[in-house]
Amino acid sequence: MCRHIAYLGNSLSLADLLIAPAFGLFRQSWAPRQQQYGAINADGFGAGWYAEDDVVPARYRRAVPIWADRSFADVARVSRSHCILAAVRSATETMAPDESAAAPFSSGPWLFSHNGRVNGWPGSVKHLAAGLPASRLLEMEAPVDSALLWALVLERLERGEEPGNALGQTAADASAAAGGRYNFLLTDGHRIAATACGDTLFWRAGPDGVAVASEPFDDGPGWRSVPENTILTAAGGEVALRPLPAPWKDSA
Ligand code: GLN
Repeated sequence: MCRHIAYLGNSLSLADLLIAPAFGLFRQSWAPRQQQYGAINADGFGAGWYAEDDVVPARYRRAVPIWADRSFADVARVSRSHCILAAVRSATETMAPDESAAAPFSSGPWLFSHNGRVNGWPGSVKHLAAGLPASRLLEMEAPVDSALLWALVLERLERGEEPGNALGQTAADASAAAGGRYNFLLTDGHRIAATACGDTLFWRAGPDGVAVASEPFDDGPGWRSVPENTILTAAGGEVALRPLPAPWKDSA
């Protein structure tokens, strides 16, 4: 199920982060090495990044496989940022294949990605969305599980919750209500928050920056695996891990 990555650090091009590495997101779209669910990630892709002088990120998303979009390779070569979040998608069965369903989802300064699935979709919506204002549902970018999860996370962020908590509580609640897999990535251009809940997640911190990714993009040293049911937060070169709040159910 999907592969995603977030980076925060010294400015680099999207191509340096996503295309150039031997096992980067570009290659992960057809040859992921650690993907447990689904085989390839050809149902669209997206990247979001920040210009130095703007808090609202740019997004580039398409419904085609990342390798089929020549224009992306060109844009990626000349677009640089200190913070990038990108994903390649393997759509869950019955979910819309459109560009609007490809991560990252966004609102204001935020970029969000979900690697996983809500079980029992769409019947399980009633368990997840209870209590969510109707306006949030109407603002969903696409009628897919990831967009609903983003609505739930955004509701918490706009209530002032710390990003790691907003992700962790949403993953815990959704997992208890519906079962499924809830690996999230979130950034506002200054910090990264992520969850490992049902799928692989790794991080690497170095003098240049921090990367958090579904799987390592090279065989270099320093990659660490994030234990299952964990919240990761990264800011200012520091990475912290803490357990997901209860209640959560084992992913299925
Ligand atoms: N369920 C989400 C979708 O359909 C995410 C899929 C994934 O992680 N492979 O887009």
